[in-house]
Amino acid sequence: MKNYPLLGEVRDDFPILKREINGHNLSFLDNASTTQKPKCVIDAMVNFYSNHNSNVSRGIYKLAEEATEMYENGRERISKFIGAKDSGKIIFSRGTTDSINLVASSWGSSNFKVGDQIVVTEMEHHSNLVPWQLAAKDLGAELIYWPINNINDQSGIGYLNLQKLEEILNDSKKNKYKIGLLTVTAVSNVLGTINPIKEIIKIAHAYGVPVLVDAAQAAGRMSIDVSEWDCDFLAFSGHKLYGPTGIGVLYVKNERLEEMKPYQSGGGMIREVDRQTSSWAEVPQKFEAGTPPVAEVYGFDIAVDYLTKLGMYEIFEHELELTNHAMKRFSEFEDLEVYGPTETNFRSGVLSFNLRNVHPHDVAEVLDESGIAVRAGHHCTQVLHKRLGISSSVRMSFGIYNNISEIDHMFSKLDRCRRIFE
Ligand code: PMP
Repeated sequence: MKNYPLLGEVRDDFPILKREINGHNLSFLDNASTTQKPKCVIDAMVNFYSNHNSNVSRGIYKLAEEATEMYENGRERISKFIGAKDSGKIIFSRGTTDSINLVASSWGSSNFKVGDQIVVTEMEHHSNLVPWQLAAKDLGAELIYWPINNINDQSGIGYLNLQKLEEILNDSKKNKYKIGLLTVTAVSNVLGTINPIKEIIKIAHAYGVPVLVDAAQAAGRMSIDVSEWDCDFLAFSGHKLYGPTGIGVLYVKNERLEEMKPYQSGGGMIREVDRQTSSWAEVPQKFEAGTPPVAEVYGFDIAVDYLTKLGMYEIFEHELELTNHAMKRFSEFEDLEVYGPTETNFRSGVLSFNLRNVHPHDVAEVLDESGIAVRAGHHCTQVLHKRLGISSSVRMSFGIYNNISEIDHMFSKLDRCRRIFE
């Protein structure tokens, strides 16, 4: 029998879960949006500001040395966490959105030419779509879409078909277009689909196409190995891995680093400044202009340590258990439409649905009366929602502290929605 060591046991680590909302225990089921913070992360940030606060890489005094060491230790642990070896480097950013904008601006602007194509998928978050729209417009390139599978597919909607990718790449090659980049999410923030990233990268590379992976949803749910995946870029945010807001990561493979010009400029990223020209610091400092988010890196480092100790495999199994249970519950109701793969093997703990004849905002409001936090809206995926033929949905997404009784509680409260609105 499988052992799911996490089920509910980590709740005590999270002070916010002791809060009551509208007279009920908080059931936080909006983890795709952001995650709650364990006490060790909150304490780490208080400790940094109470005992070690200083700017980094600048002062030659004890506090500055400590802060610099904490910042660089964070870089080392987070690099290891995603399997970065000698293959590339990580750059600290403000989050996934900032990391993707960094690539679009710093790499895209000097690598895309007029007439080039950028492949995006229909399930991308606006953060992995709009920066490419802007880059394409500025540089005369064109966005082309890798569609998700057909609505009538038996296994549910929301897969990316690898054969379709080969067709797209073949067509471009035949028509003498250059595809500058393929950019794809590892896990959909609406459908929960886990995309076969390693296979996707292998196919793209066979056609000479670099790949950016949006790991915003994946990084806190499963183990990632950038060296094994061989991705060119990978982006994620600290706040979705139980760490602070305002800190994110961009991993860049060595070959691509050489092709990148500075993103933002100013202090910290220069080697020498003369009256008319400047030269740049080594990577990664070249891409980290200004005072970096030192306390946030330290908090993120502690969050990654916390997750590593729990085990990414165990976290994945825990979410799979919750997802299996939720999918079973969905199948009991005819008036609930759930989007995404029906096979839970291809799914992570992100489930979007609609209750027939009830607006998602009304569902979320009624659930909030019982202390249940879910998200309602388009979840920054309007292209995907239009493809699904809807304008919004309710999204329940799991984290390490959720348990089966919270899911059952949510389903029981959907009954109240039916009574009020039907
Ligand atoms: N990509 C995906 C798949 C996401 O789910 C999110 C956050 N919802 C983002 C990108 C953007 O992340 P952030 O807001 O932390 O920059």
